[in-house]
Order: sequence, then structure tokens, then C-alpha cells
Amino acid sequence: MPTYSVIIRGDENSLNIKDKIETRLSKAGYLYNEEEPETIFVVGGDGTFLKAIHQYAEQLNEIQFIGIHTGTLGFMCDYQIEDVDELLEMFIHQQPRIFNYSVLQVELENLNKTIYAFNEIRIENIINTLTMDLWINDEYFEKFKGTGICLCTQIGSTAVNRSLGGAVIQHGLPLLELSEIAGVHHWKHRSLRSSLILKEDAVIRVKPETFNNTFLCYDHESMQLDHCTGCTIKNSPYQVRIARYKQYSYLKRLKNVF
Ligand code: NAP
Ligand code: MN
Repeated sequence: MPTYSVIIRGDENSLNIKDKIETRLSKAGYLYNEEEPETIFVVGGDGTFLKAIHQYAEQLNEIQFIGIHTGTLGFMCDYQIEDVDELLEMFIHQQPRIFNYSVLQVELENLNKTIYAFNEIRIENIINTLTMDLWINDEYFEKFKGTGICLCTQIGSTAVNRSLGGAVIQHGLPLLELSEIAGVHHWKHRSLRSSLILKEDAVIRVKPETFNNTFLCYDHESMQLDHCTGCTIKNSPYQVRIARYKQYSYLKRLKNVF
């Protein structure tokens, strides 16, 4: 039996849609399975989608996601409440097109920990000036001073990266983008300042003077880096697979959202 699960934002609207999905799919012979779902329906918004991805981080290659938005369409949720009946019939009877999206990973030296992010990874110190050396593919790049840095994926390029002045990356390009967060630039010190778009196999190594008072923010999650001595960021072996049954126009989505 094919398996599925439903992750919802928790409001009444999304709860009703969850009921609707379960009623229709159990009739069609699908099995609700939260441990090993082949399909996850996300009902809420891009924020709910991020939470679902983190919940299933290491199973991502075996799962396909379908996003239903209870507000205005985002970049991850493709269907609206009024589309749900039609969507379920297409899900039962048709083959979707699968779109793959890359997932970032950050390895934390000496903490022996790997963390994943779908939108972005930020290293930030909002109290003191953060000073750190950066290498790209083992080549020394620059010394950064400022509040921090943000590394985003293509899908994350429209999130906080865009607010930092970073470029929006077109759908389909599995690139990384490195942006500064309030960099220090004056006669004694300078770093690139502009955002830097990197190839999909780029490896960014970060070595701070100290990570005291520094946070690692990854999507909606965060942790303190105080006892960490450095980290390495790159694309992970995981991909988020989004199933779509209708024509998808990234440009249309972009114009509607902004
Ligand atoms: P959240 O309320 O879940 O998200 C904040 C807003 O960012 C929501 O409007 C959300 O859309 C939108 N968003 C999320 N991913 C996006 C993407 N890839 N492209 C365009 N918009 C996106 O807040 P949170 O719990 O702190 O979640 C963290 C994520 O939200 C982070 O990854 C961060 O990039 C993003 N965020 C962005 C800004 C900003 O642009 N200045 C500020 C805060 C957070 P929905 O309404 O569809 O959920
Ligand atoms: Mn949200």
C-alpha cells in the first residue's frame, strides 16, 4: 500500500484539509504512516514546509512533498484550499513532475554535528563584531568582519537573502549564494560586500576568532555556537522532491509574492 502523511500548521483551516485528505486517500487505498511516508502533504505555508523538511531531514530522498497553502501562495506550497479536491484526484490518477531542490549542510567542527537547511544558514553575532576567515574550495577567500554571513540555496534566495540585498536565483539552478550581514568596510578593513553566487559543489569553510555570543540560524531553527571552533558549509547529499501536477511558472510566482 502506498503511504502518506500530512503535516499541518495547526489552525482550524489546515485541520479541516487534513481530514479531507485522509478521508479521500483511505478510500483510495493509501495508508497513513508518519514514520515512513512516501508522500507528505504540507498544509500551511512555506514556514510549515520548512518544519516538515526538518522533521524528515535524513529521509528526504525517499519522500515527495506536496504543498497546500492556506494563505497566499509561497514558493514551496503550490495549491490553494479550493484546489484540494482536484489535487487529490490528480494525486490518485496521474504521475506528477518531480522538481528537485538542494539542501545545505553545515558541519560543526569539534561538536561533531551536522545540521541541514533548506532556505539558508546564517552565522550571526548581534552583540559583538564577528571576525572570521573564509575559504572557498580550500582557497583562502577573505577575512570578514561584521554581524555575520548568510548562505542560501536557490529556494532560499527569496527569503532572508533577498532582504540582505542578495539576488534572486532562478528556479532550476542548484547554486549557493553567500551574502554579508552588516559587513564592516573602511580604510583598514574590507571584504567583498556584494553577494557571491557559487557553483553547486562549492565548499565554504569558516574559522572565527571566536564564536562567543554567536548563533547558527538554520531556517526557523537556531543554536549557540559558543564552543564551536569552525564550520564547513556545502550542499548535502539530500534533496527535497516537490511533486507538481500542473504547469509551474517561477516568474509568475515571483511576481505574485513580491
Ligand atoms: P516564518 O514566519 O515561518 O517565515 C517568515 C516569512 O518568510 C513568511 O512570510 C514565509 O512565508 C517566508 N518565507 C519562508 N521561506 C521563504 C522562501 N524560500 N522564499 C520566500 N519567502 C519565504 O518565520 P520563521 O519561523 O522565522 O522561518 C524562518 C524562515 O523565514 C527563514 O528561512 C527566513 O529566510 C525566512 N524569513 C525571512 C525574513 C525576511 O525576508 N526578512 C524574515 C524572517 C524570516 P509563508 O508565509 O508562506 O510561511
Ligand atoms: Mn509562515
